[in-house]
Amino acid sequence: MAETLRTFQVLGQEQVRQTWKTLIDSGRFGHAHILSGHSGVGKDALAFYIAATLNCKNADIKPCGSCISCRQFLNLEHPALHLIFALPRRSASHTDPFSGIKEKEMERINQELAKKVAWPYYHLQVEGANDIRISGIRKLRKDIYLANDPGATRIVIVLRAHKMNVEAANALLKILEEPPQGTVFLLTTEYPDRLPDTIRSRCALHHIPDLSWQFIQKDLIQKKGVNQVQAEISARMAMGDLAAAHRFAEQDNTFWLDRIRSTLNMLARTDFVSVHKQVLLLKDSEDQNEKTRQQFLSLLILFFRDVALQIKEGETALWVTQVQQMNKLFPNCNSYLAIKAIERTKDALERKVHLQLALTALFFELRKHLQG
Ligand SMILES: [Zn+2]
Repeated sequence: MAETLRTFQVLGQEQVRQTWKTLIDSGRFGHAHILSGHSGVGKDALAFYIAATLNCKNADIKPCGSCISCRQFLNLEHPALHLIFALPRRSASHTDPFSGIKEKEMERINQELAKKVAWPYYHLQVEGANDIRISGIRKLRKDIYLANDPGATRIVIVLRAHKMNVEAANALLKILEEPPQGTVFLLTTEYPDRLPDTIRSRCALHHIPDLSWQFIQKDLIQKKGVNQVQAEISARMAMGDLAAAHRFAEQDNTFWLDRIRSTLNMLARTDFVSVHKQVLLLKDSEDQNEKTRQQFLSLLILFFRDVALQIKEGETALWVTQVQQMNKLFPNCNSYLAIKAIERTKDALERKVHLQLALTALFFELRKHLQG
């Protein structure tokens, strides 16, 4: 396994952590929980924190991070931990999720797990792992009733639980209906609505809020050593997702600023040619693809939000000059309608409408909203 964390961190979620600490201290909490929230807010990190707290041997501070139980949880190797996640389907086995997976592939899965151990915010990327199937739950059913670590609270963590197919969800429901004593189920998901009602009604639902971009920016500066502007662009594009922010921070994002600036200059003019030029730039540049275009539109939304909030010098390093200029040039700018228009275009582009037409229409509409 890779280098391990020395503590259980649930970054920027002090209130959530405190709520859980109180719940655990009170001893009055159910055996099944759904931890929901957007990607990268720390759902898995929280699940590991809860698991370790429930099993920590230290009398005072739980989780201490240094007792044998904590160390095993930090490595995701605790005998009472049952970790379930999507795996590639390599055989029709109904009882063994690992059946048919070749040694090379298993190695890659272990490498992914090692990354998760090193950083709980990491998204497991296992090729062909599209769903959690019944074999995984059947195996859990078999393992969970075996006494593996007497005295320990057994912990079942289902990562991205919405990936369970119908069969798997039904099998899990049966276990939830008659859970073995001393077992806690933690289901993490971005999409709690995709879980069957029957499962949701058996679980307590906990929502983990988004991380603020200011928190993410600070984290990037401290942990990755990136500069303030780069950290701010990455943090804002990530929309509350710490893992995505760390990925963005690894690439040079300063060209986004130029794109935003040139777009705003174009919007401030009245001719058709400059719109046409800008559309072509966004359509044909080498660095432009579907994903980066979505990121660009997200940034444009953030820009209009800042215009609406009339941000002041010092609050952000990113585009304070542009925002102030906009406020001066277009005092009646309707940022709300501008944001709605950009959101609609984002949505349309996901549905593969004609790119050039969609962007042209958007820019003309934005010009209208600038006038108020
Ligand atoms: Zn401990």
